[in-house]
Amino acid sequence: AKHDGRSTFRLFDEGLRSRVAERAQLEAALRQAVPRNELTLLYQPQIDADGALVGAEALCRWIHPERGPVSPAVFIALAEDSGSIYALGEWVLRTACRELASWRPGTPLGQAVMAVNVSARQFHHPDFVGQVLDALHSSDADPARLKLELTESVVARDLDAIVNKMGALKALGVRFSLDDFGTGYSSLSYLKRLPLDQLKIDQSFVRDLLADPNDAAIVRTVIALGASLGLAVVAEGVETAEQRAVLLAAGCRMYQGYLFAKPLAAEDLLALAARGV
Ligand code: C2E
Ligand code: CA
Ligand code: CA
Ligand code: CA
Repeated sequence: AKHDGRSTFRLFDEGLRSRVAERAQLEAALRQAVPRNELTLLYQPQIDADGALVGAEALCRWIHPERGPVSPAVFIALAEDSGSIYALGEWVLRTACRELASWRPGTPLGQAVMAVNVSARQFHHPDFVGQVLDALHSSDADPARLKLELTESVVARDLDAIVNKMGALKALGVRFSLDDFGTGYSSLSYLKRLPLDQLKIDQSFVRDLLADPNDAAIVRTVIALGASLGLAVVAEGVETAEQRAVLLAAGCRMYQGYLFAKPLAAEDLLALAARGV
């Protein structure tokens, strides 16, 4: 290739154009993902300090017909930007509630809680509460066994409106967890005002817990903060027994990560619950 300014510009221009076109294609394909049945949910176990499987987080997967699996980090962000998160989020809620309803009392998952990720844009939709109610009612799932995971990006708006919305669902027994805690614009004042039940320590802090004293200090501080605010604390991304031991010593009593299990298909989660983690 020539290296005069014009051809460099043209190369850049074409590269940009093809990326924009590719993104538009992926966006169009994503809009079809729900009607074409290309989405699935996997369920990653959440384990308490006694090693009992107490719940699972629903994690969405998209198998593109030609490209194969697309990373959730990519397609969730794309869905948020393009607005298809409403349909996707509704599908996730309905599917997760239907699965939860199948975890009947008296069976190995009979008391397990289903955690569902809710993106900021989805939460702020005027009919979000109605969406959750529909998913619960049409599946006959127990609201007290549903936990919604919000991220700090939700809170970048009118706090009163957020508190009201959460309150409407809390009145039915639905619980709330603050996901990826410590990575966003954390503010102690909103932590005090939001009717949360749980904090999730972001996996980036857990990853280097043993090697990085700063991460260890953050983890200990979040656990202490949770305890003083009366919130349960879950550590995510727990990969080693050493990490679990440090977390337990610091007072964290709930874990999620590859040490225990990867995100599993529904039937594999059931099998794991039946034989014990
Ligand atoms: P997240 O909510 O923080 O979910 C945890 C992520 O960590 C998941 O990635 C999970 O597979 C991964 N993970 C679990 N254990 C370990 C571990 O021990 N080590 C490491 N390195 N990773 C672990 P995944 O499934 O790729 O999802 C990425 C993100 O996509 C999620 O992060 C969440 O923000 C978003 N997401 C996934 N499903 C949904 C959904 O249904 N709705 C919404 N709104 N977002 C979703
Ligand atoms: Ca999550
Ligand atoms: Ca997380
Ligand atoms: Ca995350």
